[in-house]
Amino acid sequence: MSKLRFSAFKEAVNRPVVDANGTYSAKQSEIFGINVFDREKMKNFLSAEAYESMITSIDEGKHIDRKIAGQVAAAMKAWAIEHGATHYTHWFHPLNGSTAEKHDAFLSVSYDGKPLEVFNGDMLVQQEPDASSFPNGGIRNTFEARGYTAWDPSSAAFIMEHTLCIPTIFVSYTGEALDYKTPLLKSLALLDRAATSVLEYFDRNAKKVFVTLGWEQEYFLIDEALYNARPDLALCGRTLMGHAAAKDQQLEDHYFGAIPARVSAFMRHFEFEACKLGIPVKTRHNEVAPNQFECAPIFEEANLAVDHNQLIMSLMDRIARQHGFRVLFHEKPFKGINGSGKHSNWSMMTDTGINLLSPGKTPKNNLQFLTFLINTIKAVHDYPDLLIGSISSESNSHRLGAHEAPPAIMSVFIGETLTRVLDELEERVSDKKMTPDEKTELKLDIIGKIPEILLDNTDRNRTSPFAFTGNRFEFRAVGSSGSCASPLIVLNTAVANQLNQFKKEVDEAIERGIKKDEAIMQSLRRAIIESRKILFEGNGYSNEWVEEAAKRGLPNIPNPIEAFSIFLHNSSQKLLSGNNVLSVKELEARHEIFNETLMKKVQIEARILGDLAINHIIPTAISYQNTLISNVKGLKELYPDEWEKLAVHQIGLIKEISEHISEISNQVNDMVERRKEANRVDDVVERARLYAQNVKPFIESIRVHIDKLEMIVDDEMWPLPKYREMLFIR
Ligand code: ADP
Ligand code: MG
Repeated sequence: MSKLRFSAFKEAVNRPVVDANGTYSAKQSEIFGINVFDREKMKNFLSAEAYESMITSIDEGKHIDRKIAGQVAAAMKAWAIEHGATHYTHWFHPLNGSTAEKHDAFLSVSYDGKPLEVFNGDMLVQQEPDASSFPNGGIRNTFEARGYTAWDPSSAAFIMEHTLCIPTIFVSYTGEALDYKTPLLKSLALLDRAATSVLEYFDRNAKKVFVTLGWEQEYFLIDEALYNARPDLALCGRTLMGHAAAKDQQLEDHYFGAIPARVSAFMRHFEFEACKLGIPVKTRHNEVAPNQFECAPIFEEANLAVDHNQLIMSLMDRIARQHGFRVLFHEKPFKGINGSGKHSNWSMMTDTGINLLSPGKTPKNNLQFLTFLINTIKAVHDYPDLLIGSISSESNSHRLGAHEAPPAIMSVFIGETLTRVLDELEERVSDKKMTPDEKTELKLDIIGKIPEILLDNTDRNRTSPFAFTGNRFEFRAVGSSGSCASPLIVLNTAVANQLNQFKKEVDEAIERGIKKDEAIMQSLRRAIIESRKILFEGNGYSNEWVEEAAKRGLPNIPNPIEAFSIFLHNSSQKLLSGNNVLSVKELEARHEIFNETLMKKVQIEARILGDLAINHIIPTAISYQNTLISNVKGLKELYPDEWEKLAVHQIGLIKEISEHISEISNQVNDMVERRKEANRVDDVVERARLYAQNVKPFIESIRVHIDKLEMIVDDEMWPLPKYREMLFIR
């Protein structure tokens, strides 16, 4: 091992477990939410009138009265200071996928020089960060660089690291959304209205429909010393080189195995902190790949769940460092082993606590269930490309389609039982009037008999990108690093749009004199017939499916550049801007931002790879080659007659090394030329296209030669920690 690599490895192997003695254990129910300014605390700190007004605003999504905002700010300040906060910040999700915060102290000084703490209604409700420092896709003109953040009272304020964080939306001064939360909230309100109005057919008690989201966050852990010894990991979040370890996941001995003590201490620590922030963390386990793990909370209302996902990602990052780890959220940090996703479990729930994707006990309940199920399927059928667009990114493109993850083709899995029900509906219902007997039979024998609990583990398909799992859909193509708001925005809007169409169709039929139930069943039947091609029960990872999907005319869009362009399609614009979720201008801005981000990522990777190849790998290979050359020279001196025979192995290697070196050097030069060419192009989207098409392929093909060299060069000399060293936490 090289000196640097050896010392990193030694540090990693000897790193102690940080507090295994239970500092982070506490009765979870007692610490849950202590750092959140939730309803209970609001009630304690606010006047009855202010509290009522706040609750109404939250529940009905209305603006907060300025006067009330002043009272709430005073209460929040008192509570936050009592809990050790010294600063406050508006906390938001700009389009670079992370969270942003700019901390201001409560501290102020009065006109006569007295120090005091100030936090008023205006500071709570609105701030003006400089929008030019965040991706804005041309929305910001240079003369109008301001943007503003505005409080989202539906997500409670919380304290993190002595700072009071206020969840906000982030918009440009001209009113365009520069974040994920703004369109997410619009899509949630839209779906609420659409679903509530369809519910009038079944349940008049429900006044509101929430989207529920339960995300499952996958991630890798790497020891900090090894991470720091790998510039590619540290700067790109993934390894750009590294030969596969002799043993990784083939024995499948990591999945659900015992969690190593160091990891377990880290998990307990961040879960402890998550609990204080009111995040209901529930499940933790090892994942398929070595060093890969998952964390899943109990599902929550979607806006809150999205905030909690963002929050836990920054929490994990911070706490991992305290344990000598780095957490990797990249979708594919290591070639050849599984990547990470963020399965997003999605459903709809009424304010009366009914899960609309959960079958019930009676035919009526089940017709309601089928209505929401089938309309969701139809929505996915109508917008498969846009759904792929919503989860596409440079990093996720390394995972999708790479045989352990769903390909970039949308399909829906519903299982055997429901397939049968849908078949029966299609067969027995028709546009002609049904006889009362036929209707009763259908209701009692088929619809009424959908088992209340469909959560049967034998009827699961883990290769489907969008699977019904008994009482929810699980969207599995979502990447581990991205915001889960992005796919939700599209899914919510598409389902709402479909529910509105359905409602219109059924109402028209009722007006024509068709009975309600029959009108509903006829519309459902049409939706089933129209969305047949999106239903797929087989192996979604197989090559046969790729061919079959092509025959069915389903889009397969592995290339993120192509996926981003879907935001510009007419049908996408009609859906998203027609429903006032994202305007055409906002969609164009997003299209530009996503392209620019991709371009920058490829650019950074290309630069780092070039640097590593020329300054680390080639010099190491030459050193080793020199050793071989002196060896051959020595043999020649000692054995003038038989040296050629004795040095066969060495001579072969000397040549092989030269071949790889010249390949690497030539390709790096070519890659630099392609980059220069692309950099000369002004148009960002075109530049991104050139980067993806001409620069990106080099990153893969240069690596092939580096990985070969790794297998040839003396292990003593190899400068970078190898996969086998990074991937096993002891
Ligand atoms: P699996 O790995 O088998 O998919 P997990 O237990 O890891 O199962 O994750 C299931 C996720 O689904 C959890 O986050 C859970 O809260 C979520 N979930 C369960 N019911 C709902 C629902 N009605 N709406 C949204 N999410 C749900
Ligand atoms: Mg899952």
